[in-house]
Amino acid sequence: MRVLEKFGVCDCHSHVFGPFREYPLSPKRTFDPPEATIEKLENVWKSLGIDRAVLVQGSAHGNDHAALLAALAYSPETRRGVALLAPDVTESELSKLHQCGIRATRFNWIHHLLGSDNRPEEQRLREATALLERVSPLGWHVEVHIDILDLDLLTRLRVPDPMPVVIDHMARIDGTAPNASDQLAQLLHILEDDRFWVKVSGADRLTTKCADLRPASKTILQILQAAPDRCVWGLDWPHVNLSRRRSDLELANTHLEAADGGTVLEQVMIHNPARLYGFSSEVA
Ligand SMILES: [Zn+2]
Repeated sequence: MRVLEKFGVCDCHSHVFGPFREYPLSPKRTFDPPEATIEKLENVWKSLGIDRAVLVQGSAHGNDHAALLAALAYSPETRRGVALLAPDVTESELSKLHQCGIRATRFNWIHHLLGSDNRPEEQRLREATALLERVSPLGWHVEVHIDILDLDLLTRLRVPDPMPVVIDHMARIDGTAPNASDQLAQLLHILEDDRFWVKVSGADRLTTKCADLRPASKTILQILQAAPDRCVWGLDWPHVNLSRRRSDLELANTHLEAADGGTVLEQVMIHNPARLYGFSSEVA
């Protein structure tokens, strides 16, 4: 079943891990992902009718992008990537990553993923800004995986103009929390600044405490209404670090049903990703 009967539908957030024989995991990883090869992921995309995709470097592979780059090489025209960069990444590595289709760098500022990284916040922010200044000439943007409770950290990050800032997984707003609407209000406030984008993804991460994905739908709908031209959608395959397993189709549908209405859906699934990641707009 195609999620949308149009060409150019883009999954803006999935990961590959392995094959471990060829691409071993980082010894510093904070979790053990399943082996999730590009062949398996290509089949998932095919089954949902996803034509374009963005692969995000999984933290379990550290700063070694070999598995990601091999996966992008499968179909360079219709794939882009997001890197996790070490502060001392070389210029030649950066230009290689760009040539291979990387268009953004990501900061993982979720507590359980920081692992042994206990540098003071100020230092992390300084190093992040220095990195952003280096990738800015390449036209990249930044993606930040952050919890809504730490959102002030994001407002303290100095980002070179006019670099877009993408907030991953709707800042992990807990759709079942008693203060969910306050959390949402904070995110909507940030979105008033039009350099901020949101990845509408991870409905399963927003509803870990209940069997049903519906509490996430309200959050999704309000974000889409606030910034329809700055939202992109992601499947987040292979759904690591989750105790409850939902089907890819159910997850895709939760996000799509919330978007209800053709124009917004097309914007979020096709046109916004084309603009953000530099896919050809003629075919979209
Ligand atoms: Zn993810």
